[in-house]
Amino acid sequence: MQVKQLTAVLAAAGALSLGMPVAEAAPAKNVILFISDGASWGTWDMASYWEYGQKGMQPYDSFPVKLGMTTYPLNTSSTPTFDNEAKVSYDPAKAWDTTSISGSNYFAGYDYIKQNYPDSAAAGSAIATGRKTYNNAIDWSNQSEPMRYITQDAKALGKATASISSVPFSHATPAVFGAQNISRNNYHAISEMMIHNPDLDLIMGAGHPWYNNNNQPRSTASYNYMSETAWNTLNSASSPRAFYQDKSDFEAFANGTLQVTGPAIFIPQVNATLQYNRTDVHGTDPNNPSGIAFNPNVPSLKTMTEGALNYLSQNPSGFFIMIEGGAVDWAAHGNSTGRIIEEQMDFNASVRSAVQWVETHSSWDETLMIVLTDHGNGMPMGPNSDTIAFEPIQNNGKGVLPGVRWHYGTHTNENTLFFAKGAGAELFYDHVKGTDPGLRDILGFNDGRYIDNTDVYYVMNAAMVPEPETYAMMLAGLGLLAFAVRRRKQG
Ligand SMILES: [Zn+2]
Repeated sequence: MQVKQLTAVLAAAGALSLGMPVAEAAPAKNVILFISDGASWGTWDMASYWEYGQKGMQPYDSFPVKLGMTTYPLNTSSTPTFDNEAKVSYDPAKAWDTTSISGSNYFAGYDYIKQNYPDSAAAGSAIATGRKTYNNAIDWSNQSEPMRYITQDAKALGKATASISSVPFSHATPAVFGAQNISRNNYHAISEMMIHNPDLDLIMGAGHPWYNNNNQPRSTASYNYMSETAWNTLNSASSPRAFYQDKSDFEAFANGTLQVTGPAIFIPQVNATLQYNRTDVHGTDPNNPSGIAFNPNVPSLKTMTEGALNYLSQNPSGFFIMIEGGAVDWAAHGNSTGRIIEEQMDFNASVRSAVQWVETHSSWDETLMIVLTDHGNGMPMGPNSDTIAFEPIQNNGKGVLPGVRWHYGTHTNENTLFFAKGAGAELFYDHVKGTDPGLRDILGFNDGRYIDNTDVYYVMNAAMVPEPETYAMMLAGLGLLAFAVRRRKQG
């Protein structure tokens, strides 16, 4: 047993025996983790230019902790390889190499970051467990064993927990906060595990089998993202959690008129994504970056976020939540400038709403908020980035599509942008892996310091768990130190 896990066990045991909320001795009562899936550097800028006509206006732009975060997996295998050898890494000197090369990669740095990238499963697992693994793994080790994940730690501390997303709830990123599986593609098993998971109180995400991507009912079900068994379970009298799907229920949950206690799942009436996969069946809307009207009867990620925070904050011991702008990644794969802005805007609105929640109903002294991406995708840069290395996105003003040149159709191994604020946020500085001059000199993002994705787990865990010293003193005062020492020796 690792010290972290031991601490969590002790804390949970202590909370039970003392009959008091553990959060009183830990810096972070609540942890809110935002993941914009697959957001390269330029993705953050594109949405800011459309929304504000400038950078620096998003709530996370003024967060006190701004770091880079590396995202590479343990290896690029799609199955366990039964070794612990780190096969890939990240080298800032190679990533920002502006040497011209022939062909459509243009510069050596572009070529370098197109290789050895993580998928969302390995990247998410690193954040959720603190351990790197192979691509496809859902909290599953390279030795082919399940790995303990942050949601379990939070639940052991008596916290309420949630995983919510704009893509199917069983998709890789939301899944690593509620399941363990050898492959992300086992949607049926993952959906069943999540639905029955006692460590996960609230699930929200797409994947509805009876609706298509345009928010229209199907005549036959498509059990692609959840099994028929899972669907039937949710609709039976013996369902392990309350089930909602109407947009009006999401809205009532968000404005507090729908009160839910106990485990719950909300699946909006759409199959793959809230909005990204819609066609133009609902007409046009010139106010949208894509020009296409939104699916009318699905909630936004912002509405889902507000409902989730209402629900979770009923717990006096606090909560852990992961909120994913999942379709940002899908739009990046599609190199779709208009649609990625729509997705990132909903993500930004969700962050804004959560910040407002913290400042109205909680405080930065008791809540840790983290905003990150799990990896880059698509390498959107400026329109002349084929001749000007790392040219930034071109700002064309508020409400106008920015100038973008996409360089890739899948993930990258770039150093990503990371933001944190609140209780325990300064702990990230203890995990700095090095300085990346590109973040500082080319992007102008921060002083160049960066962490690794595995560090996110350790900080979230440390922020939620009482300090071992503080806790030992508490236990000693109650004559329980002997118990703690005995447990630690066993570890
Ligand atoms: Zn991803």
